[in-house]
Amino acid sequence: MSERISVVENIMGANDRLAEDNRARLDAAGVFAVNLMASPGAGKTSLIEQTLPRLADQLRLAVIDGDIATSIDADRAAAAGAVASVQINTGGQCHLDAVMLQQGLGQLDLSQIDLLLVENVGNLVCPADFRLGTHKSVLVASVPEGDDKPYKYPGMYRGVDALVINKTDLLPYIPFKMDYFRRGVEVLNAGLVTFPLSCKTGEGVDAWVAWIVENVQTFKR
Ligand code: MG
Ligand code: ZN
Repeated sequence: MSERISVVENIMGANDRLAEDNRARLDAAGVFAVNLMASPGAGKTSLIEQTLPRLADQLRLAVIDGDIATSIDADRAAAAGAVASVQINTGGQCHLDAVMLQQGLGQLDLSQIDLLLVENVGNLVCPADFRLGTHKSVLVASVPEGDDKPYKYPGMYRGVDALVINKTDLLPYIPFKMDYFRRGVEVLNAGLVTFPLSCKTGEGVDAWVAWIVENVQTFKR
């Protein structure tokens, strides 16, 4: 084994250990956590904005937002009704890692939270390689990105527990073949639970929210 490969493996090993610590901390506090991943502009923040008001009367929701710069997304989450929102600026790093989530958790009172949505940095490559300690991973795809994305970014589609297909309101205007897209997903992640929806019109969002609620209830049992 080359020295370089062993260095990379050590970094990943350290990240995984820390991810386990994060998971233990979330479990102890009874906080169900979801890692939201997507390319920039797919609609992670818009999905959070649609999700928060639908759950506000039954769950206490917090958001941790990872971005290279600014606190725009955490501000949007707070405005949408999150009981707490934390912005992590990665300073150039194109994904969140377990250390960053650990720091984010340190800024929250976990005893006051039922559900934590973690918005990863917009990127279809390396967020899939860094476990955070969250309970579920969700990929937010969107119609304008094109129907070839599962074929081009297989690693991202392989590891996730659910898939949101956002911006379905644009389907009449964009040559996006849903069958072709879904076939690509099926090869990588057979039977993946999928939510076509539009954060703009709200169509399909309730099914996604029901999936979240179901997961939180199973977790709390
Ligand atoms: Mg965002
Ligand atoms: Zn990265």
